[in-house]
Amino acid sequence: MKTRLIRPELDGLPSYLPSPIPLDGNGAPQTNGSVRLALNELPFGPLPGVVDAISSAAGDAHRYPDMAALALRKALADRHGLSPDHIVTGFGSVYLLELLLKTVCAPGQEVVFSWRSYEAYPVAAVGGSLRPVRVPCTEGFGQDLRAMAEAVTPDTRVVLICNPNNPTSTAVTRAELTKFIDSVPDSVLIVLDEAYGEFVTDLDVPDGLVEYGDRRNVVVLRTMSKAWGLAGLRVGWLAATPEVAGAMRKLLAPFATSTIAEAAALVALRQEQEVRRRVDRITSERARMFPALKAFAPRTPESQANFFWLPMPDPAGFAAHCADRGVLIRDFPEAARVTVGSPAENNRFLEAVATADSLLLVG
Ligand code: PMP
Repeated sequence: MKTRLIRPELDGLPSYLPSPIPLDGNGAPQTNGSVRLALNELPFGPLPGVVDAISSAAGDAHRYPDMAALALRKALADRHGLSPDHIVTGFGSVYLLELLLKTVCAPGQEVVFSWRSYEAYPVAAVGGSLRPVRVPCTEGFGQDLRAMAEAVTPDTRVVLICNPNNPTSTAVTRAELTKFIDSVPDSVLIVLDEAYGEFVTDLDVPDGLVEYGDRRNVVVLRTMSKAWGLAGLRVGWLAATPEVAGAMRKLLAPFATSTIAEAAALVALRQEQEVRRRVDRITSERARMFPALKAFAPRTPESQANFFWLPMPDPAGFAAHCADRGVLIRDFPEAARVTVGSPAENNRFLEAVATADSLLLVG
């Protein structure tokens, strides 16, 4: 009998997801004019100054970047009233999450998160030889913080809270979160993944850094992929205590923030007002679309992110219907997820909604 080369725990993970964006034989996007509402990106292009910063930094492409990414860590720290020893940057917040788990958990320990939540959570847990503990969402697709607190055992090292939650778009409130954090032993690390935090308009939803930044067992994970428009450059960051951040830096992949990514991020951070304007455009589009989507898929929750979660009986059929009409979205087994794009893109999606077979959507 042949010996196994691959760890058996990986058998339970889904195979790599095919891109929701059609690619040609060489891997280039082949959207043929379709609008891309599948990956929760912003539709507006890079922020002013970013392309120039990339061009200038390209002249140093033959040199390694600053290993410590100090300029970017300083800029982020200044923005949030911290010192750089609280900050870790790297190629995407998803990488930093894996690194964090590797830093704080011993093999076999538990990582608790809601389900559904971000698909990378079980992958990061299993990849780190940890046990993923999935706690079902509430009826309204929220994270059930009370049930999550009850799921914590002496083996639990980390709880992941995605606020707002990808893919269900809901957010937990300050009151819920404070109660949760107070109820969990402070030996358990609580990760607030705020990849979509910039899109929150509900004043009852907290900014994790402002509200909980001084707690020893809270880590706030952020990304420049969404509101800051740098998805293609892979810039994620987190804020933690110097104890946790310093330990993470011991295991950080060398040169985990590229020269170009760092230069672009530094320029983007100076465009705060423009980011605000862009986010406002998305949230007003979100408000415009909601009634039509609620009428179409009645269990659609109110979104605090730049996407909607549309529960329906045949999400794959609906996604195919949209693709036929030039709109690329993501389907999950129980719902479709659509990104809020520009007004024209959203109108195209709303037209696809209006022509969807009503039989598809009963239930
Ligand atoms: N967290 C959440 C909740 C996300 O949805 C994503 C991206 N889809 C990430 C983290 C990772 O973002 P990135 O690696 O691009 O920083």
